[in-house]
Amino acid sequence: MPTYRVHVSKDYTVFAAGHFVTYDGSQCEPLHGHNYRAAVSVEGDLDENQYVFNFVPLKRILRGICDGLDHRMLLPTGNALLDITHAPPSYTVRFQDKTYVFPDTDVVQLPIANTTSENLARWIGEAMVAEMRARGIGLAGLRALEVEVEESFGQRAFCRLELPAA
Ligand SMILES: [Zn+2]
Repeated sequence: MPTYRVHVSKDYTVFAAGHFVTYDGSQCEPLHGHNYRAAVSVEGDLDENQYVFNFVPLKRILRGICDGLDHRMLLPTGNALLDITHAPPSYTVRFQDKTYVFPDTDVVQLPIANTTSENLARWIGEAMVAEMRARGIGLAGLRALEVEVEESFGQRAFCRLELPAA
């Protein structure tokens, strides 16, 4: 049996965002940003149209998710080393002796432990599956969805989500 996969990586599936990563239990990168590029692959059987997945909604869904992250500060609310409080109109983030205050309009909260490209890839993948379901797009026949996040040239992370058999 042949296997099929479609892949989308467009010049508009990008987002410029601020972040920092905590590491080694007690360290925190300085605040900085990346021009992230996102791509998605979907694997599965051919449907009655001979598609794995129609490119048009696949591009739209990935673009919508990227647009929601574009020009935002990405805050990982699952990070145990950061003290994040939201008192509108601001988020305050504390790490040891550092304090950052961000306007809440400029922030996207992500329920992840760190804003690594690996975790961003997983979050984007899960958001894509949720958006497909919200749009009533059937996932029958699809086996896996893989998201790639490139944070700088030649430096990428991947997350593959196996999709439950329908
Ligand atoms: Zn970075």
